[in-house]
Amino acid sequence: MDEQTQPLVLYVEDNPDNRVLVRRILEAEGFKVEEASSGPEAFEKLKTIVPDLILMDINLPEIDGYTLTTTLKSQLTPNIPIIALTANVMKGDREKTIQAGCDGYIQKPIDVDALPIQVRSFLGSKTKG
Ligand code: MN
Repeated sequence: MDEQTQPLVLYVEDNPDNRVLVRRILEAEGFKVEEASSGPEAFEKLKTIVPDLILMDINLPEIDGYTLTTTLKSQLTPNIPIIALTANVMKGDREKTIQAGCDGYIQKPIDVDALPIQVRSFLGSKTKG
């Protein structure tokens, strides 16, 4: 596949097993994947890359995914879609991710077949501005 047509995804996740899994799934479907294991690492990455989409774990050390999303949306990367990828499925969790500024929500456990389709569908919904 042509380099330029490969969407770049930044996956912010502290669990290495999940990072390996998501990378495998998305790379097999033609995505490029960059990883960050924490908020500070995500900020570092975003100094040098401009992803088409950010996949955001919520339960992260140092800065949680809600706070990180709010910061990115209000300051650093307002136009990059951020999709929460989280096992937090209690009532109200989806609303919290939306309030934090996430553009969408994907529930863990990760569905190997559905994930690339879900990610692709959110790529089309890039926020304007
Ligand atoms: Mn986590």
